[in-house]
Amino acid sequence: MLPLNQLMLNTRCLLNLTNRIIFLPLTIVFIVSTLSLLLIDYQLRDELHQRVELELTWLAKSAMESLVLLNSPLTLSTVDRVAKHLSLASDARITFIDDSGKVMGDSMIPIDQVPILDNHLNRPEIQLAQVTGIGISRHFSRTLNEEYIYVAIYRSLKVGGGTSGYYARASLPDSTIYYEVIKLRLALASIAIVSMLTLILLSFISSRWIARSVEQDRLDLKSKIDSGIHDIELLHELDSMLGACSELSEAGSVVKQVTPRLLPNSSGAISIYKSSRNKLEFIMFWGEEWQGVTEFKPEQCWALRKGHSHQSDHNDTQIYCEHFSHLAIEQGNKASLCIPLMALGEAIGVMHILKKEFPYSDLLLTNAIAKRVGLAIANIELRYSLRQQAIKDTLTGLFNRRYLFESLEQLVALGMRNKSQIGIIMGDIDHFKSFNDSYGHDAGDDVLKEVAKELKKNTRIADIVCRYGGEEFCIVCPDSTQEETLLIAEKLRLAVAKKEVKLSSKEMVTVTISMGVAMFTNSEDSIKSVISEADRRLYQAKSDGRNCVRGDV
Ligand code: GH3
Ligand code: MG
Ligand code: MG
Repeated sequence: MLPLNQLMLNTRCLLNLTNRIIFLPLTIVFIVSTLSLLLIDYQLRDELHQRVELELTWLAKSAMESLVLLNSPLTLSTVDRVAKHLSLASDARITFIDDSGKVMGDSMIPIDQVPILDNHLNRPEIQLAQVTGIGISRHFSRTLNEEYIYVAIYRSLKVGGGTSGYYARASLPDSTIYYEVIKLRLALASIAIVSMLTLILLSFISSRWIARSVEQDRLDLKSKIDSGIHDIELLHELDSMLGACSELSEAGSVVKQVTPRLLPNSSGAISIYKSSRNKLEFIMFWGEEWQGVTEFKPEQCWALRKGHSHQSDHNDTQIYCEHFSHLAIEQGNKASLCIPLMALGEAIGVMHILKKEFPYSDLLLTNAIAKRVGLAIANIELRYSLRQQAIKDTLTGLFNRRYLFESLEQLVALGMRNKSQIGIIMGDIDHFKSFNDSYGHDAGDDVLKEVAKELKKNTRIADIVCRYGGEEFCIVCPDSTQEETLLIAEKLRLAVAKKEVKLSSKEMVTVTISMGVAMFTNSEDSIKSVISEADRRLYQAKSDGRNCVRGDV
């Protein structure tokens, strides 16, 4: 699991990465588009020059054609008129020059100034046109004080009876191209700026969107981690509380409190095997009142039959376990889950859960809970059986001498505080040695068991019946007077004497018991002294002929 500060660091790194992801392509786009614009600018300028030259060539040719078609002698006034007329149709300057280099007409120079213009034979475009028929050049016009681009066409024309060469020249100021280029650059720059702004805006919006979704993911992850930490803390709490339980009922109330916090909106129950292992009995539930059966056979639970958890959903064809109440499941539209409770590789019970649905996280949690509950129940049962072994006699099932002294200490302290008396009855089977000798030790054991049963049957729940040792018994009667204790002893004596024990040889036998009674009456009476007193009276009963009760009346 990621610690929170590690998560924050990762998020910051992610945001930095997002910025880099956005701004790196933006920079590349900026550089590439600037270079592209410079290239486009260069190409367009070149293209523009070529176009202007073509246009001027076409104009010069058109001017020459106009001169050819002119039906009057080529005088200064006619030629100049043609030049000025042609310039009306375009922005270009049209100039006609005769073979000798004399300007015969110019669309931009008033007719009275035309004759005083310089001889044009030294102009580079005129010289080129004289050789190749067409000449192109760019140079400064002294007449108009501006840089011009010129295209001149040379042609022989019929003038009077003979032929004479004529130049038709079209020109445009270089500044016209310059302004066109500026316009073009402005258009390109506008497109570039709009594209860049759009790109920046889109990048900004997408970066905000990415940052927001990263933040959302971070919050989702944080809440998942928080709920995971909460679940781990609760499981830890469940673990430590179950470990401190010494009774099944205590474990049940811990599960009842903690499980609904781990699995909200769930209800469930825990059933454990009876010692016979042919049935399971319900020990606790949480959530809604348990509506399933409280006792069932292992075959009625699919989880126990399969050896692993069994899940059923009301939507699918899975089979519900028989121990569930079908009505509760169907009415509540619930899904069911049974998980065997395992300890030392053996199923000791099963946990049943009802819930609307079981997402994967819930399955992990239920398994974690079942594991802890299974171990806790096994521990409690183990502790219980060890304690039983420590305080019970294995042959008769009665409490042993150790338990007698342990419980007497508490009972005496309580009795003295409540000012109530406690009766002690010591009993010893008469002539038991000779019984053993006559019928065998096993028959003696059977008799001991039957006598123990009679003693248990004829005493109250609060009375403690112990096997003191051999064929001797001690019965503690809390909150009893001497008369009452003597009556109990007498009742027991009669019951034992009446009891016929059937031996394995089918023979019916009876035994008798002698009894001595002593009382705890004040706080100065020690356990040892009262038991010795009861013992003394028992021996008195023996010496008085056995099968009788002795005690002060
Ligand atoms: P009394 O009437 O004076 O008590 O005579 P008794 O024979 O009962 O007394 P004794 O103390 O001489 O003998 C007790 C006998 O109880 C000896 C022993 O073999 C028998 N005994 C003690 N514990 C057991 C037991 O766990 N099983 C069997 N079968 N016999 C036992
Ligand atoms: Mg004895
Ligand atoms: Mg005896």
